[in-house]
Amino acid sequence: MSGRVLPADDPAAISEGARLLQGGGLVAFPTETVYGLGANAFEARAVARVFEVKARPSFDPLIVHLSDRADLGSVAVVAHPGAERLAERFWPGPLTLVLARRPEIPEIVTAGLDTVGVRVPAHEAARKLIRAARTPVAAPSANPFGYVSPTTAPHVAELLGEAVDLILDGGPCRVGVESTIVSLATGTPTLLRPGGVSREELEEALGTPVATCPPPAGDPLAPGQLARHYATRTPLRILPGPAGPLSSDSGRVGLLAWRGPAADTGYAALEVLAPDGRATTAAARLFAALRRLDALGLDAIVAEPCEERGLGHAIMDRLRRCAARA
Ligand code: AMP
Ligand code: MG
Repeated sequence: MSGRVLPADDPAAISEGARLLQGGGLVAFPTETVYGLGANAFEARAVARVFEVKARPSFDPLIVHLSDRADLGSVAVVAHPGAERLAERFWPGPLTLVLARRPEIPEIVTAGLDTVGVRVPAHEAARKLIRAARTPVAAPSANPFGYVSPTTAPHVAELLGEAVDLILDGGPCRVGVESTIVSLATGTPTLLRPGGVSREELEEALGTPVATCPPPAGDPLAPGQLARHYATRTPLRILPGPAGPLSSDSGRVGLLAWRGPAADTGYAALEVLAPDGRATTAAARLFAALRRLDALGLDAIVAEPCEERGLGHAIMDRLRRCAARA
């Protein structure tokens, strides 16, 4: 069955979408590139639902959408002089800037990275929606993982149906391919994904050459994935099952528990991911919990496994990456 669809040029539909976003709901909306699946970027639980609905096999950083260039400072730290120049020249439009993230942005949005992807979409309805919601909107393409990105509202309804709270129909997308992504997080501007804005246009606006991100080893089809293998500095091990008491010779060990351990004796620190047992809660808390444990200078972190269903896949995938690199 398909979800609720309202016309994007109806002010009442925009207000309804904004109200849903403010309440932690998911709203699919048109942009000039593809349809986005939007959530309040400051609400980790709402963003966790985006990952759940898309059934992504692993967390992937989301692009934060603004209604206005003036709001950039609310989500990113603008240190590179080129950022303002590119924003002025290409926004609103299909260009995503990767910049240092502000700490208020939940880590699930950026997949644990210190940077955030930001853009101001050119579609009028998208900007009206974001302005009315009075919050930045984190939005990937509105399709389940592995499907082609949707460029019409019926595509979205077909693919995601009732999993979204509202679909705003703004007709077919003008661009239909995703935005160009350029990182200004380090000294040299670097093209992470080609898109509607060309390298030449970027170089002309910046007055400097733009580097190309080398393809990530083993997975050249995934631009932007290079740096996102978040791993704690503290070695992390996944337990075979629920945690038991710690033996006395294990050093200072932190426990990443699922619902709260039956026996947490001996652990130097404890983080509970899902007090309510829900994977969306755990996903929203995962990266922040890992960071807190990592900051304690522990000898090791042990993590309870979770059921590999729904978002549980993404959580276990991320924990395995952490464990593999520890
Ligand atoms: P989509 O929402 O489908 O256009 O995909 C978002 C793309 O932006 C993905 O390829 C991400 O890897 C990339 N992306 C988002 N945020 C960042 C970031 N902070 N650093 C690098 N790439 C990013
Ligand atoms: Mg996508």
